[in-house]
Amino acid sequence: MANSADLPPVCDYEGSDYRSRFWESGERAYEDQVERVALQRMMPPQGDTLIEVGAGFGRLADEYRGYKRVVLFDYSRTLLREAQEILGDDPRYIFVAGNWYSMPFVSGLFETIVQIRTLHHAADVPAVFGQLARIARPSATYVLEFASKKNLKAILRYATGQQNWSPFAPEPVEFVELNYDFHPRWIRQELLNAGFEPQQMLTVSHFRIPILKKMIPTSALVALDSSIQFTGNWWQFTPSVFVLNRSLVSQMAADDDEFFACPQCGTPLNSPVDNILLCSGCGLRWPVVDGLYDFKEPLS
Ligand SMILES: [Zn+2]
Repeated sequence: MANSADLPPVCDYEGSDYRSRFWESGERAYEDQVERVALQRMMPPQGDTLIEVGAGFGRLADEYRGYKRVVLFDYSRTLLREAQEILGDDPRYIFVAGNWYSMPFVSGLFETIVQIRTLHHAADVPAVFGQLARIARPSATYVLEFASKKNLKAILRYATGQQNWSPFAPEPVEFVELNYDFHPRWIRQELLNAGFEPQQMLTVSHFRIPILKKMIPTSALVALDSSIQFTGNWWQFTPSVFVLNRSLVSQMAADDDEFFACPQCGTPLNSPVDNILLCSGCGLRWPVVDGLYDFKEPLS
């Protein structure tokens, strides 16, 4: 467990209009639907505990209805509040704000981990994978979507001199501050290093091209994309790649009565009293505010 001052920088969507700007302008129906297809192909439909890392406003939360406990985890309280507005009455959903470099959960907790459209904000991917391996149960499923640098558009731009970085070089490229694209081979290696075994790969969003999205009905594009996602096992040239992983980390599953752990020192936390989680290890106090577990900063 690290002091927050030592952690890598985090991309902050606090106060963001991400939902209305990006998803509700109507241009993203295709991306939304092909991602759901890939997720349904990889994720066990039912289970005990699931966490979505970077769940935002809960766009995909309805996919997790087969789970008993669903943690929607994000750095942005603003986005989680939006998720709460939609899902707040459903006791399965648990809303948690925190930092993915010091996740506030006991080890061996989650049966299923989902991470879609967020890894491109990770300055330190090995550290994120390390945290996820720690909170994964033995043999847990981890469905990861990442932005691939080796996509057709980047290859064409590189070939015609419009882009100076090579889409074939293994290392991540930071194309805008705290926005990275990754090489599929590099991602697989880092997953292995962290204790995950990459299995199936699906390529998604083959037709993320404005003119196609305008001219061809979304349903037809989605059907076409779905039918060729499996080619991701052999080659990956799409901007979006899904990879299904199994956790190989040998650790005990968490005890039934343990859930949260102090992000500062790792001590398991008891249930909140007066909406405060008190750490018996280091004495820090973490607030629960209107149903949102807030591990971004301790109470002073
Ligand atoms: Zn503590």
